[in-house]
Amino acid sequence: MRTLEDAAREASACTLCRLANGRTQVVYGVGNPHADLMFIGEGPGFHEDKQGEPFVGAAGQLLNTMLSEIGLRREDVYINNVVMCRPPGNRDPYPDEIDACSPYLRERIELIDPRVIVTLGNFATRFVLGRPASISRVRGQRFAIDGRTVIPTFHPAAILHGGGEASRQMASLRADFQEIRAALAELPEPVEEQLGLF
Ligand code: URA
Repeated sequence: MRTLEDAAREASACTLCRLANGRTQVVYGVGNPHADLMFIGEGPGFHEDKQGEPFVGAAGQLLNTMLSEIGLRREDVYINNVVMCRPPGNRDPYPDEIDACSPYLRERIELIDPRVIVTLGNFATRFVLGRPASISRVRGQRFAIDGRTVIPTFHPAAILHGGGEASRQMASLRADFQEIRAALAELPEPVEEQLGLF
């Protein structure tokens, strides 16, 4: 199987969809390549496109805050998006763009092999659940998919749009992060550590 570095190198020259035309660079993903927890957002925005890293703008700041509230840092988790290139003017990604990018995302999921996947917003949630789903209906619930726990929650940009701390959805986002914390705490110990007890 290819390594994450091999996959990222190939992706950096991808021209499978029209988003290749307007990007500064491919935004592959960032974080711990062996993370138990993966976040999937929608697609790079202005700052992500410039810096080549997902969630570095305002939405990323909120994601960092939510992570720190459950005792995690960005380096502990893996962060990526449904599409790797910035849609012009931050429009929603089109279905054919999501399809073109999907082998890369599926490969990242396989290579990183996270136990828990958190989908941020509608696009990632629909992609991972494999069906149309309203985020306000499914958020905070656990879904068992391909041996992983999937927890959808609001996209941090949507929370910021709705007023950030003052928004009605902020309490739901916090509750969902507590659910993420609980799901991680329930994971079995890695085998090496179990053996170390004897
Ligand atoms: N919004 C996303 O969905 N992804 C990013 O990387 C940044 C903002």
